[in-house]
Amino acid sequence: MSLTVAGGTRAAVLSVGDELLLGDLTDTNATWISGRLRARGVTVAHHLAVGDEVGAIVDALRWLADRCELVIVGGGLGPTADDRTREAVAAALDVELELREELEEAILARFVALGRPMAPSNRRQAMVPAGAVAAEPAGTAPAFAVDLPVGDRQVRIVALPGVPWELAELWDRFVEPQLAGLVPAAATVTRVVHVAGRGESDVAALVEPLVAADGDVTLAFLAKQHGVQVRLTATAEDRTAAWRRAQPAVDRVVAALGDAVAGLDDEDLAATVVRLLVARGERVATAESATGGAIAARLARVPGASAALVGGLVVYGDGAKAALAGLDPALVAAAGPVSEPTTRALAVAARERSGADWGLAVTGVAGPEPVGALPVGTVHWALAGPDGACEADGRRLPGDRGAIIDRLGSAALDLLRRRLVTG
Ligand code: ATP
Ligand code: MG
Repeated sequence: MSLTVAGGTRAAVLSVGDELLLGDLTDTNATWISGRLRARGVTVAHHLAVGDEVGAIVDALRWLADRCELVIVGGGLGPTADDRTREAVAAALDVELELREELEEAILARFVALGRPMAPSNRRQAMVPAGAVAAEPAGTAPAFAVDLPVGDRQVRIVALPGVPWELAELWDRFVEPQLAGLVPAAATVTRVVHVAGRGESDVAALVEPLVAADGDVTLAFLAKQHGVQVRLTATAEDRTAAWRRAQPAVDRVVAALGDAVAGLDDEDLAATVVRLLVARGERVATAESATGGAIAARLARVPGASAALVGGLVVYGDGAKAALAGLDPALVAAAGPVSEPTTRALAVAARERSGADWGLAVTGVAGPEPVGALPVGTVHWALAGPDGACEADGRRLPGDRGAIIDRLGSAALDLLRRRLVTG
């Protein structure tokens, strides 16, 4: 898969900070910046992180400038001696740092507004490489931009503070207007087809030939605990046009996957189930052993869930299956707490006790230890429907405890989804 947009601007994100390399901090800024650049149709070709060291930052700037037209640097603009981005950019340009009085005044004004004295070290933040265009701070760190000559090209370097909210504010105020001048108006949109009940390689084999001929659309697969996402990305002059450009491929993928499609774009499996229930004026209740209420929680996260979810029983311990769901202890003892008969009885109980139209139940061995003769990953799910009928399914799921819990929840929700679509 190619990441490059034809004729597009290539950008890089350079994150500065020892904490990133020590494993203390996740580089969420790089992810955020990539999202903003991609939304503008800019190809992000590299993410790089370096420590608070001038030599390392200069090396990284040169390496990225050789390969990109735009480098966004995040972090290292604080007032302390370990904040080295200003010096490093000046060194890469071979210019001095200069004090900007208007920045010094703006920083001082921030401190006055906060009722705090300005430390002498904050004066460092009013220094920028000679010739830079600077932006007043959002917090106390001003941002700046310079052009670094590389052969006959000019590479724009934009330095932003590392504090996420300051970065976001300066992005809108300082970076977006520059992008307007640097890159033609464009937007990249990723459409998402959520697939349930089929494996990634199986989905890929079906989908790849459908999209291969479409040069406008790039294809990616993302395996999630909850299923597989087919991601179709297109670029055009604006968001609406990019959305439309991807639509024929989305339509082909949806048609080929049929009832394995659990949702589109922002609507995942749980949101699809809520929408379908609301459309039918029906509600569901759960009785959950292995998932401990996670299925009800997934439904409850969807806006408008109150019209679709009555509630749920967390029947985790064996005793709870009798005490909360009213199951016959003899049945649980004879069939076993993780078994098809117990799961069916729980689904029926969830429906009858709550007055819901649908009762959804799960039992399973999430691990890490097997339960008696049942290996880790043994799961059952059952659905009791408005006509009183109950259907059940079971499997042995791969993965660790969290993955088994997530996948079991998805299997149960997907059974309900399929019934809501067909019946
Ligand atoms: P400021 O000038 O506003 O003081 P700075 O430019 O010096 O900030 P840093 O000192 O590198 O930035 O980081 C300040 C804080 O911002 C960090 O403690 C961290 O919480 C957050 N931060 C910095 N870089 C990142 C990053 N790449 N991803 C997520 N958070 C970050
Ligand atoms: Mg830092």
